[in-house]
Amino acid sequence: MPINVQPIEGLDPAINDLRERTAAFVNAEILPREIDLFGGLRGYENANDEHARRARITLREEIKARVNEAGLWAPHLPAEYGGMGLDFLSLAYMHEVLAYATGAASLFGIEAPNAGNATILVKYGTEEQKQRWLLPLIEGTLESGFSMTEPDTPGSDPRSLQASAVRDGDHWVINGHKWFTSNGIDANFFIVMCRAYDESGELGTPGQMSQIIVPTDTKGVNIVRGVGIFGHPTSDHCEVVYDDVRVPIENTLGLVGQGHQAAQDRLGAGRVYHCMNCLGQMWRAFDLMVERAMTREVHGGLLQDKQFVQGFIADSFMDIQAARLMTINAAEKVANADPQARTHISAIKVFVPAAMHRVVDRAIQVWGGAGVTNDLPLSAMYLRARALRLADGPDEVHRILIAKNVLRHYRGGETWDFGS
Ligand SMILES: Cc1cc2nc3c(=O)[nH]c(=O)nc-3n(C[C@H](O)[C@H](O)[C@H](O)COP(=O)(O)OP(=O)(O)OC[C@H]3O[C@@H](n4cnc5c(N)ncnc54)[C@H](O)[C@@H]3O)c2cc1C
Repeated sequence: MPINVQPIEGLDPAINDLRERTAAFVNAEILPREIDLFGGLRGYENANDEHARRARITLREEIKARVNEAGLWAPHLPAEYGGMGLDFLSLAYMHEVLAYATGAASLFGIEAPNAGNATILVKYGTEEQKQRWLLPLIEGTLESGFSMTEPDTPGSDPRSLQASAVRDGDHWVINGHKWFTSNGIDANFFIVMCRAYDESGELGTPGQMSQIIVPTDTKGVNIVRGVGIFGHPTSDHCEVVYDDVRVPIENTLGLVGQGHQAAQDRLGAGRVYHCMNCLGQMWRAFDLMVERAMTREVHGGLLQDKQFVQGFIADSFMDIQAARLMTINAAEKVANADPQARTHISAIKVFVPAAMHRVVDRAIQVWGGAGVTNDLPLSAMYLRARALRLADGPDEVHRILIAKNVLRHYRGGETWDFGS
């Protein structure tokens, strides 16, 4: 079933045009070939067939070339780096449409963590770093990872992070233990978050949080394993030990001490995109659920005529509407640099993945056993929704932030204006 994208009244015509062009491409080029393009990712029976794998890669490259021809490549990057140079809101809307089809975003050049790393390199990278790391990343000849979370310190409280980079002449010597470094198997370089110590004081106060580019083939970078998740024996979320890893001081991304800010730049806006991705997937799950309800006969009647199933449809409709309005409102607040945007981002980061979880759960139920197979995108969506309640700040951390901001407001003698 194709995604039904019509112009939204009152929306910038350029964004409407972008939504329609993206949807037309997704409907014509990606949805009909989803299994051929991404069968391996969904555990399709040909996953271990080398011939089938190569055919999938070739097909993906063909589609990417067509995305380029259609002028839709790398929407998150400025035009000078070969991207579309979209503003924040346009990109948010595009994420929603792309998320409708499995893997579509990767065919448009916006796959995590490469996209986030490219954005950070554009903002903080030196000219030399851009030439060496950014351009090949955009061209797809290099892969990357973002290495922040540690097994021995709480990721919910990044101030506790312990990996260190100690200056030794014109090099950093990095030691640390990370995990959940996504895309770690294929990555050619990691952006590593660590505390930098330059006792001379020339490069900031010792212990300040910094991001350092580390090529994965540097001596001392030990990729211990792809951490198995959700019952799968392995994944591309890697455990990595950095053991006296020497990289030149020029590999510092931004200034020493800018690490937290760079991480926030990446995660803040990224959370809105994550929620738009959730919405695109919920939209798909909803379409699949209704389609099945209209065609599956059980106990002498179509599922659509059973009130339990009608309840699933109604509850999912409400979940999607509520999640979508909240997310677009938050996105507009970010775009308008509203001082309360941070509170709204945390609100959607809690609400939307949970709503997605509920919608996908109901769609799986309506599809019965087929719902948990890899023949449908639902089981992968279900796991993504669950993981998203942890990644980029667990629910509790965002709830605390919302409450703090609200209470600060009231303590300051104001009440909350829900009309703004
Ligand atoms: C699929 C996936 C991909 C990821 N990709 C990356 C990546 O590419 N790079 C990277 O660096 N990291 C990545 N992560 C890691 C992720 O960012 C962390 O898991 C997250 O920040 C939580 O940190 P933690 O796992 O150490 O949990 P902890 O910090 O130990 O928290 C555990 C739990 O404690 C609870 N909690 C936390 N604070 C409070 C509080 N104040 N009050 C009450 N309860 C609280 C929450 O329920 C939380 O889930 C990924 C994670 C997942 C699941």
